[in-house]
Amino acid sequence: MLNRRAIALSLILSVHCLTIPALTLAQDADIHARIHEEGMKHSQIMKTMHMLTDVYGPRLTGSPNHKRAAEWAVKQMTNWGFSNGHLEPWNFRHPGWLNERLTAHIISPVKDSLVCEVLAWTPSTRGTVRAKAYQLVLPERPTQEQLDAILTKEKANVRGRIVLVGKPQVVAVNLNPPPKRTDDLQIERRFGADARPSPSPSPSPSPSPSPRPLTERQLGDRIDKFLKDNSVLVRVNDAGRDHGQIRAFNNRTFDVRKVVPTVVMRNEDYGRISRILADETEVMLEFNIVNRIYPEGKTSYNAIAEIPGSDKADEVIMLGGHLDSWHAATGATDNAIGCAIMMEAARILKTLGVTTRRTIRVALWSGEEQGLLGSQEYVKKHFGTFEKPKPAYQKFGGYFNIDSGTGRIRGASVFGPPEAAEILREILKPFKQDGVAGALATRSRRLGGTDSTSFNQAGLPGIGLAQDPIEYGTHTWHTNLDTYERIVEDDVKKAAVVVATAVYDLSMRDELLPRLAKEAMPPPPPVEAAARPQPVTKMARPKSKLKRVTGQKKI
Ligand SMILES: [Zn+2]
Repeated sequence: MLNRRAIALSLILSVHCLTIPALTLAQDADIHARIHEEGMKHSQIMKTMHMLTDVYGPRLTGSPNHKRAAEWAVKQMTNWGFSNGHLEPWNFRHPGWLNERLTAHIISPVKDSLVCEVLAWTPSTRGTVRAKAYQLVLPERPTQEQLDAILTKEKANVRGRIVLVGKPQVVAVNLNPPPKRTDDLQIERRFGADARPSPSPSPSPSPSPSPRPLTERQLGDRIDKFLKDNSVLVRVNDAGRDHGQIRAFNNRTFDVRKVVPTVVMRNEDYGRISRILADETEVMLEFNIVNRIYPEGKTSYNAIAEIPGSDKADEVIMLGGHLDSWHAATGATDNAIGCAIMMEAARILKTLGVTTRRTIRVALWSGEEQGLLGSQEYVKKHFGTFEKPKPAYQKFGGYFNIDSGTGRIRGASVFGPPEAAEILREILKPFKQDGVAGALATRSRRLGGTDSTSFNQAGLPGIGLAQDPIEYGTHTWHTNLDTYERIVEDDVKKAAVVVATAVYDLSMRDELLPRLAKEAMPPPPPVEAAARPQPVTKMARPKSKLKRVTGQKKI
């Protein structure tokens, strides 16, 4: 029998239940307004950027700079009141490396300084070295026999010299520079309500059955050995980009003993030297390069901190970006800004003192530039995969990632069913006037150009945020121009507000984001495809990542 008190209680409950949605909506609107206010009026992003770029950059994986930046970020988040801040080690296996000094000059027939960047994981010169320049030009795709014949003839020419490898690239003046913002219609078609889910990726073309020409890797290895065996003092590569832009990646072996000191020279200087050599005039060059190796860099670190949830604290919403960078500049748009935006989004929520139901966790990865290594390790260790899940797998609520520069957020892609994209599209609706078009579902488990795809690969809801290109693909991505000055402050403040709102809303829902049913889950990509990062989307990655992993220029 039901007693009076129970009836009264059930009445109160039912009334209360009826009023929840209205109350929640009002509360949410209030919280959304407060997030906007805090993010736009009291932003800490540019302070964070200053520390990560000016003070700690460049942040090459395994370098002491990266570790200090990660330690600072954890300390900063702890000071903001986050919990469980720590560095999580993973095995990078290569030592850390830093360039400390580089001078490069043409001594004759004219005197001038030259603009270069050092290729990472290459050795120092023995003090200041001076030698005649020689230009080594090889055919595009030689066979083993062709290459051997050429190199045998070239031995005497390169011995003890400074060698320019390859012809200078002709970089034509670009009369149609791409727009810095993406067209509204184009973005609407991609992420709006009528956007169609991205098609499943087509399998990568199988390698040519004819192995006769050497692969790029084999060719590179043979040239490195040839230069080393013949006591070349310095190898010079052409940057091949306009306006003095240089992208310097790494010696693909990560072993300084296997290569000679190597620089990437701006196209304008490389071209000038090449043209003087073509006049049959002798060119004398001088270099002084000091690089340092850090054996302790074999262990690298992801930086983690969180804001504990309440009734659903064991469920986690993650947000992050990669803290490691290339070394030619201070890695501002790639990707200190992604880290600063995510730290800021979580800071806003913490500062407002809102209690979220789920735990919010910030992760700043390392090893991204060497193949998403830090995030791969993290997902494997904490969540496992759809096929081999760990207990935390089912409790995971989504991972937001930023890694396409400084542009404002225009849309999101989420791994999962269309219903997951619909939920995100609804959450992002208030930002329509700021250019955020919506969200799109993807079913691709292939590793792409950034860390959200480490989650997608495991079958988890990785959420990649698409941004306006601004100058990312054209100027700053992986170049010597990637500095603090290139950040568009208003865009990144707004990005933090969008992310804070989306993370908040996801952390408060009754249910986690819906996942693909077992029948709909694509099989994990083959190991070979998984090991080769592919561009996620046109906007997320201006170019395939393969080039930067191989490091050396095509000759
Ligand atoms: Zn990046």
